[in-house]
Amino acid sequence: PSVLKDGSKLNPDYIPERLPHREDKLKELTIAFRDIVNEPGKSSVRVVITGRTGTGKTVTARIFGKAFAEQVKNRGIKVEYVHVNCHRERTLYLITLKIAEQLKLSIPPRGLSSQEVFKIIHEYLERRNMYVIITLDEFDYFLNSSPPEDIYFIVRLYDELAVNVKRVSYIFIIRDLTTLSSLDKTVRDHIARDIIEFPPYKSNELYDILQDRVKIAFYDGTVSDDAVKFISDINGFDKGGSGNARLSIETLELAGRIADAEGSPIVTVEHAKKANSRLNEEASIILDELNYLELHPMLLVKALINLSKREKKESFPIGEVEDEYSRLCELLGVEPRRHTQVFEYMRRLKLMGIINTQQSGKGMRGRTTLLSLTFPASQELDDYVTKLIGALKN
Ligand code: ADP
Repeated sequence: PSVLKDGSKLNPDYIPERLPHREDKLKELTIAFRDIVNEPGKSSVRVVITGRTGTGKTVTARIFGKAFAEQVKNRGIKVEYVHVNCHRERTLYLITLKIAEQLKLSIPPRGLSSQEVFKIIHEYLERRNMYVIITLDEFDYFLNSSPPEDIYFIVRLYDELAVNVKRVSYIFIIRDLTTLSSLDKTVRDHIARDIIEFPPYKSNELYDILQDRVKIAFYDGTVSDDAVKFISDINGFDKGGSGNARLSIETLELAGRIADAEGSPIVTVEHAKKANSRLNEEASIILDELNYLELHPMLLVKALINLSKREKKESFPIGEVEDEYSRLCELLGVEPRRHTQVFEYMRRLKLMGIINTQQSGKGMRGRTTLLSLTFPASQELDDYVTKLIGALKN
């Protein structure tokens, strides 16, 4: 028996029905997009959502988009909402393809440039007299890794497309606003017109968010109020925590699993504490280990983090990891190490407990070594590794 009634409701991708403490942000977004209702086609709206990890940026954008499209439909305005993650789709071309895909447009598999794909998208919108709100999530990645002309193209779309009616509007989700400072002013002005900040959650806010999830994910009365209180307090920004709803929900889930493992019919504050320290401990041991790495092994770790986040898989053929590693080297302008040296690094990373290796299943053509991280590729970790790489490079 389990205390969990429906664990999927604790999944980071699950879209809840309500968003406690983000109602005002939903309203701000509606106001920012009012021109689409008042004077459709006159302007291309741009809004930046910024805030730390786990402050509800993604989920709020998604819920806003859906609700807004629904709301304007009653006034006879057709709006589609499209959400693209720039970490997963890491080039302009992949982003435009993803937008087309979400609009259910079929694009010939080869031979078109991003600009041409965008033109097809625009013609499609024109034909149907439709508008689209495109959220570019984790836009930091795109800004940090794309050539200026690609950034210029996506942002200054209407300088390039000679059209009268502006049908494309954007929500840019940017974790760290300082990313913008490296950009050309003309580009920056096209991005940062309207900035909505998402503050880290306070303890009482996390409590409300968690209680909502307790109701839909757990059986009645199986989660003690103290447990929820503990998780909210430890993570609440006003109490020195990170204000991260994702981490709080993850802690709740782990507490549930610990209760199950101990055969307890109820999740107690003790289970919540164990869950919390387990998550903390994992995080701190790893961070400690990482501090000792040199640049190239660190880049291999970063390559694995990138692949895990992008492809939502656990393990990757060694060749794929090496390819991603080479790309990172190129991006940073450092010479990649030779294959044999890379192998040696991997062996060491394994000894340090940072990565696991296994052989791909029998029967698979040309057996190969699969690599995985021994820890979740969380945003915090990614940030940390990125920072260490920046420091090592100089
Ligand atoms: P961010 O994009 O800022 O990193 P997310 O939108 O991915 O954060 O939110 C992280 C997790 O917390 C998701 O599971 C999301 O559903 C949940 N969450 C965040 N804010 C709220 C809220 N106000 N109400 C309910 N769930 C929330």
